[in-house]
Amino acid sequence: MLIKAEKLGKVYGSGENKVTALHRADMEIAEGDFISIMGPSGSGKSTLLHILSGLDFPTEGKLSYDGQDICKMNDRELSAFRRRRIGFVFQQFHLLPVLTARENILMPLLLDRKKEDRAYLGELAELLGISGRLTHLPHELSGGQQQRVAIARALIARPDIIFADEPTGNLDSKSGGEVMRLLAEIRRRMKKTLVVITHDSQIAQMADRRFVIMDGMLSEEGVTIR
Ligand code: ADP
Ligand code: MG
Repeated sequence: MLIKAEKLGKVYGSGENKVTALHRADMEIAEGDFISIMGPSGSGKSTLLHILSGLDFPTEGKLSYDGQDICKMNDRELSAFRRRRIGFVFQQFHLLPVLTARENILMPLLLDRKKEDRAYLGELAELLGISGRLTHLPHELSGGQQQRVAIARALIARPDIIFADEPTGNLDSKSGGEVMRLLAEIRRRMKKTLVVITHDSQIAQMADRRFVIMDGMLSEEGVTIR
């Protein structure tokens, strides 16, 4: 899957409250890419990720997945598209507190009325080191374990691409490092595209292509601006 962003812009609010969060961002994401986007707080990282993943619309520019303009899809098409093709990992895990780890992981399949694949769930749990935690509720798990459950949930519908917004932001450096190593390893083994937002330069260095964003201006490291 080729993702092509052309001159994406995002303006929030109007008049005195106007904020240009993203300014004419160009980006091409090829299948299997491992990309990091680094920038300080408030630089537009989440805005860019939300737009790239179809969670929000740009106020300017164009975004296509394999030539298909996703801004032209209706809500139902777009949410089905996201459920099937895209996996999300958030800083705050976003697990449902009353569901077990296993139920949380299976939620995307439930929403899509798909049958669970026991073998695949077992494989993911094994890879992520949470096989013994599947019947636990989120509050019975450590932060690192909760994030690994969230990663399994992001992968359960076999998406092509994973978007992670500061996946280690709520973790100490040891479990954060572990979560990143697992994400990178799974991406390699399962041949996924991975886009990770971070403000940690060590994490950014793990990626093959590195972008930096400052005040809504995006640039790729090692690539001169035309
Ligand atoms: P980052 O993820 O890099 O911390 P964000 O993309 O969340 O940055 O925010 C970029 C800028 O846009 C910030 O100035 C922020 O205050 C502003 N912003 C983000 N979301 C909204 C919103 N829904 N309404 C108004 N301003 C917003
Ligand atoms: Mg953010």
